[in-house]
Amino acid sequence: MSTCSYCYQRGHNKRGCPILKKDAADDKESGLDTWRTRYVASQATKAKTRRCSYCKQPGHTRRTCTMLESATVVYINQTKQLHKTFARVMARVGAGPGALVRSGYEVYDYKTRESIEHPLCMITKIRWEKLTPVNFRGNFVVAKTVQRYQRSTWATDPESVELWNCFTNRLHEDAATMDLLRSMGGGYQYQKPSKDMFEIVSPMHSTIDLSGVDYKRMADAHFKDHEAATAGDPASRQAVVDYWCEIIEKI
Ligand SMILES: [Zn+2]
Ligand SMILES: [Zn+2]
Repeated sequence: MSTCSYCYQRGHNKRGCPILKKDAADDKESGLDTWRTRYVASQATKAKTRRCSYCKQPGHTRRTCTMLESATVVYINQTKQLHKTFARVMARVGAGPGALVRSGYEVYDYKTRESIEHPLCMITKIRWEKLTPVNFRGNFVVAKTVQRYQRSTWATDPESVELWNCFTNRLHEDAATMDLLRSMGGGYQYQKPSKDMFEIVSPMHSTIDLSGVDYKRMADAHFKDHEAATAGDPASRQAVVDYWCEIIEKI
């Protein structure tokens, strides 16, 4: 809780101090031009010229920005559309938690001094927050090695080797598709290296639950880092999301 540097009471700061405001009003009434009257006047001017940190327009703040509000709604709907499509297809092919896969990553075991290509893993987690309309091809499937290795080159935790994989349609991972996605406003896209891919060894066919995904939080995280100028155009992003969902459906 803040302590006011003017009246030393708790719960407000100098800018919102009712006693300072009253003292300034009293000064003004007595015809005095004091630091208090000047302070209150300058605060009023500042409030008038303050701009929204999202859309950069004056007269409102981020909290009451209608542009940010509608952008958030669009972002959440697009994220849900992506997630539902992925969840449906992953359930169909059995790429849910519990499935055994061969990861494209390599594990180096310092104990045996051996490099293990395509280690056998079990999918343990789907990090849905990594799959967004902006990062719609990201690595979001977490798989843990079934065998315990001494350690790996990129995991400092011995005997617990987690591998991040994507879930994408290899049939459409060609340069032409990537170019098309880029031209549609999908950001920079490149063909995924095989290390990001996994092969399903033993599928786990079960419905994939999306009820725990906090979409509001995902949107807040996105717009915290982006203002209107860099947040991307929701309409062109919709075309990218639609197209990518179409591709994923073909797996
Ligand atoms: Zn005060
Ligand atoms: Zn605004």
